[in-house]
Amino acid sequence: MLSIALDGPVGAGKTTIARELAKRLNFLYVDTGALYRSIGKYIVDQGGDPSSPEDVIPRLHDISIQLRYNNQNQQRVFLNNADVSDEIRTPEISMAASQVGAIPEVREFLISLQREIAEKNNVVMDGRDIGTTILPNASFKIFLTASVEERAERRYQELREKGDGSTYEQVLNDLKKRDYNDSHRAVSPLSQAADAVLVDTTGLSLEDSIDKLEDLAQEAIFHREEH
Ligand code: C5P
Repeated sequence: MLSIALDGPVGAGKTTIARELAKRLNFLYVDTGALYRSIGKYIVDQGGDPSSPEDVIPRLHDISIQLRYNNQNQQRVFLNNADVSDEIRTPEISMAASQVGAIPEVREFLISLQREIAEKNNVVMDGRDIGTTILPNASFKIFLTASVEERAERRYQELREKGDGSTYEQVLNDLKKRDYNDSHRAVSPLSQAADAVLVDTTGLSLEDSIDKLEDLAQEAIFHREEH
């Protein structure tokens, strides 16, 4: 099976780019952030503190998460058999996901689910530790980034379109906090794999970013196979 690992910080454009790249290559798109978000949501719904291992670890046994794909190959995430794909996109659940993601037992809990999907399908998998931990032998690894201000601006516009009332400053602060959490946790911190290609999308349109990544992926995976 072929796999593309796409890692990077919040708002680098991973989700949109990975989804479109998967479509062009006819691979399955796997959004691993949705898994952490689902656990964050479960803990919040239960009245727990997502940053507290004592609140989170005992509850992992009660959680079942499945990724299912509809006939347009769109990923839906099911938490204990309920489709939570839309509800997990709030700023509160973003922060909860980042907090539960710092707990090693949570990461361990999600490893096999992610690897099993990549064993059965050609995937573009987006996350924070795909190239370093989940798929260390991925066919191609990309580390996507952009300046913090541009990432905040993109996330701010995205939330505004959904009717969320957060200000730019709030979005920027949340993003810096999540960046900090994600890159400073003890287990699988956000970091660029040694063999990943760094792509900075600051100032690049979405379309240009996707074209660039498609070229890189085609070159790395398919041209290499021909030799
Ligand atoms: O990518 P997304 O913003 O949906 O991820 C939500 C949070 O889940 C991130 O801030 C990160 O803390 C966590 N996450 C992770 N490892 C992944 C994907 C997401 O720790 N592979």
